[in-house]
Amino acid sequence: MDLKSGYPFWAVKNGLMCTFPQLKADISCDVVVVGGGISGALIADELGNSGFDVVVVEQRDIAWGSSAASTALLQYEIDTHMVDLAEMYGEFHAVLAYKACADAITDLRDLANELGDVDFDMQESLYYASKRGEKAALREEYELRVKHDFDAQWLDSGSLKECSGIKAPGAILTKLAARVDPYRMASRLLLRLAERGGMVFDRTVIDTIEPYDESVTLRTPEGFQILAQHVVMAAGYASQKWLKQSVAKNRSSYAFITDPIAKSDLGLLASTMVWESARPYLYMRTTGDGRLLVGGDDDDIDIPARRDKRVEGKAKGLHKKVKKLFPDLSMRPAFSWGGTFAETEDGLPFFGEHPQYGPRVQFAMAYGGNGISYSMIGAGLLRANIEGRQHPLAALFGFSRIG
Ligand SMILES: Cc1cc2nc3c(=O)[nH]c(=O)nc-3n(C[C@H](O)[C@H](O)[C@H](O)COP(=O)(O)OP(=O)(O)OC[C@H]3O[C@@H](n4cnc5c(N)ncnc54)[C@H](O)[C@@H]3O)c2cc1C
Repeated sequence: MDLKSGYPFWAVKNGLMCTFPQLKADISCDVVVVGGGISGALIADELGNSGFDVVVVEQRDIAWGSSAASTALLQYEIDTHMVDLAEMYGEFHAVLAYKACADAITDLRDLANELGDVDFDMQESLYYASKRGEKAALREEYELRVKHDFDAQWLDSGSLKECSGIKAPGAILTKLAARVDPYRMASRLLLRLAERGGMVFDRTVIDTIEPYDESVTLRTPEGFQILAQHVVMAAGYASQKWLKQSVAKNRSSYAFITDPIAKSDLGLLASTMVWESARPYLYMRTTGDGRLLVGGDDDDIDIPARRDKRVEGKAKGLHKKVKKLFPDLSMRPAFSWGGTFAETEDGLPFFGEHPQYGPRVQFAMAYGGNGISYSMIGAGLLRANIEGRQHPLAALFGFSRIG
């Protein structure tokens, strides 16, 4: 599966940060994590720190899948409004999901601080109504968040214009958000895992998975096998091909990044990520070296060659939209790219076992715009599943919700 087109910035900026050996022998372990992207790295870290003997197997180089293409805005704000989630699953569950995402931001902050040098920074998040007709829904969303003690502030059009320069009918401003270099974070997590005694293999494909009552056997096309107590399928958007049931739709998202811009010119953007209520949304955030990273204009293209052809046009379109929003901001786009991502019907991820494989195979499908925050939650959730403990989000984030 070809996951990205163009020049994803993290891969350009960091180059190949680390390489690991290929698997060339039969081995055994407690848990094998298939996929060395940000999801696999966060889950392997959680399990490794909890005393499990962990092996990570990645078919490419580490974090070279969609994690290298991610724009990595870390938000507690799920693509599906809390109001809409409450309608689907009840207010209690909607709040539970949002609170878990909020906790994931601070957990990611703590982890980033431990690792150091992953371009992590706490940010504010400004979510504006794209059209007059969307203001009421945003206001309702704001009120539900405040009712449940989320830190959020309502900005009417006047105060929004004053603090950001954006002309829009209203916005929610929240203090809890963050940004990270996801490629660096995944690489550093897996390097740390290897230093602490875990094993990481790259350029190694898992071809078959055979679950039994007491163990699971995985095989590579070269005939090497891994015997494990548990498997975590953190294979990103390729995880779907392991399931007969269709659980999400693949789409493409596009992004560009500018040359560094002076902090004084960035103004509010230096410390605040911006996104909108339209779907697909335009969104942007800055990097530690002052670049503006802009994304959006998602489409339902699932064919890499067609996505490749669209990257330049999509980047131009995104650039035009930012110019319209911030007419006085001078910027020079430097790199543009596109990548596969997947969307579930309700905007929630899937973490846990699937009836097709039984309890020894745990899936980690961090699908949706909040994939990285979801993976942080998923790390704790899958650890609880493997340890045979209840997790408050196991049902809401599990396959049972779609029957
Ligand atoms: C353009 C774009 C923008 C995004 N923006 C955001 C954002 O702002 N915030 C956010 O939170 N999320 C965002 N996302 C989503 C986020 O990037 C994903 O949730 C995250 O990268 C998924 O990580 P992963 O580890 O699950 O998948 P991946 O990074 O794709 O890793 C899965 C790995 O599994 C490997 N693999 C697959 N099959 C096998 C096999 N059989 N054997 C061995 N290895 C295998 C693949 O090679 C791959 O490296 C964005 C995504 C894109 C594309």
